[in-house]
Amino acid sequence: MEKIPCLDLKQQNKQVKAEIFELFEKVFENTAFSGGTFVQEFEQNFAQYTSTQYAIGVSNGTIALHLAMLALNIGQGDEVIIPANTFIATAWGVSHAGATPVFIDCTADTWEIDANKIEEKITPKTKAIIGVHLYGQPFDVDAVKAICDKHNLFLIEDAAQAQGARYKGKNVGGLAEMACFSFYPGKNLGACGEAGGITTNNEDYLKRIHSLRNHGMTVRYYHDEIGYNYRMGGLEGASLTVKLRYLEDWNNRRRAIAKRYLSEIKNEKIKMQTQPDFADSVFHLFVVTTEDKDGFCQYLNDNNIIPAFHYPVPCHLQKAYTHLGYKVGDFPNAEYLAAHCVSLPMFAELTDEQVNYVIEAINNY
Ligand SMILES: *Cc1c(COP(=O)(O)O)cnc(C)c1O
Repeated sequence: MEKIPCLDLKQQNKQVKAEIFELFEKVFENTAFSGGTFVQEFEQNFAQYTSTQYAIGVSNGTIALHLAMLALNIGQGDEVIIPANTFIATAWGVSHAGATPVFIDCTADTWEIDANKIEEKITPKTKAIIGVHLYGQPFDVDAVKAICDKHNLFLIEDAAQAQGARYKGKNVGGLAEMACFSFYPGKNLGACGEAGGITTNNEDYLKRIHSLRNHGMTVRYYHDEIGYNYRMGGLEGASLTVKLRYLEDWNNRRRAIAKRYLSEIKNEKIKMQTQPDFADSVFHLFVVTTEDKDGFCQYLNDNNIIPAFHYPVPCHLQKAYTHLGYKVGDFPNAEYLAAHCVSLPMFAELTDEQVNYVIEAINNY
């Protein structure tokens, strides 16, 4: 068997290249390179796809999180609760706004934000909670929302890994105040370039974010507040419009592969993410844990299966956040996951033969 990587975008690119290039021609003809009609078209399509009223295209997912914080007037002196086991960018938006990320542990089995551990972290400075649909699997939104309602906090979805996922039958993106998406090329819906987006049903947030992403102006060259250049590019918007048409098919193929991993990998040394009934994951990543991570990875490599790690260091132990004073032992579940996580091959173009091979190899480990 040829080497099987964790992610390979080449085949997907081949599938959509002609259609995307055709639309790129139109972007060139219209010189619509920054914002403009091709971004607006994607925004409309993505709002529809997520069953939300508004989608706002921005430069990347990190900026989506930053803008969400600004739209909620979160800044210096405020605290925002986020899970310790996520990609670090969940915390960057909070820090860029001048606020402080307050980390909490995940559950031992779903690896999602643990709603039971939120209340002990709430202080008079707490303004919001960012829940992450980690690896494409929705967190328990209702449980976290109940705490937000009780304490008058905003809830934000970090849906960067979860385009198309559903919670209790509802699309992610419209389950909270706002949802932040990344269209980084490696995500389930990835642009030809860097891009991100925000979805919301609130017109006030829409207006504020439209202004902030475009130099704090609503009338050209009249700047109402200190703004940013956080616009999405036209080529990115065009590429996303084309790829969005394929997303359900790609997600369903990932679901089918995941279903096979979940039911056919039978090895006591390998633990998988628990899938609660409320969560319909899009399996951005397929992460397992195992006691002897190095030994397992050596075995996979010897068998031409190339593993990856999401993520080897939890946020609270990153050097960038040493000033917050966290220490090893603060969040045992997140720390266990970081030390033992291995990502298996997961992308829509994996063949049945490759999936068979991965399952068999792991069962023989
Ligand atoms: C990718 C990602 C982001 C950041 O998105 P970028 O487009 O890379 O800036 C934020 N949160 C999570 C959970 C992510 O996976």
